[in-house]
Amino acid sequence: MLIKLDHIGIAVNSLEEALPFFRDCLGMNLIKIEVVEAQRVRVAFLSLGSETIELIEGTDEQSPIRKFIAKKGEGIHHLCFQVPNLEKSLKELKRKGVRLVDEIPRQGAAGARVAFLHPASSHGVLIELKEEKG
Ligand code: ZN
Repeated sequence: MLIKLDHIGIAVNSLEEALPFFRDCLGMNLIKIEVVEAQRVRVAFLSLGSETIELIEGTDEQSPIRKFIAKKGEGIHHLCFQVPNLEKSLKELKRKGVRLVDEIPRQGAAGARVAFLHPASSHGVLIELKEEKG
């Protein structure tokens, strides 16, 4: 079902405060910064070899990221896996009794379609599934 780990998402208070550590201290490459209106976040993608880290900042008080940080503090927020066919994966997981946050795919960064699985079904890990565009 899964192709590969796409990225690890890290919730941060501010991209401007977090970038000096991940980019300048650890030496990761900043690929791009993007606002994802639908999810009320601004994200920065950093790469290291073939691995990608996504830093996520909430853009307003209603942002799930702000709520996450208020509850748990900054830190690892989710793992994202690539799948070949998002609808098919969601249908299959639902059939197997997995609790979904998104029954219908939503718009993610870079035009990709994504959906989240509920951490209650995945041992406390929020999992994002992503189907690459085109
Ligand atoms: Zn993500």
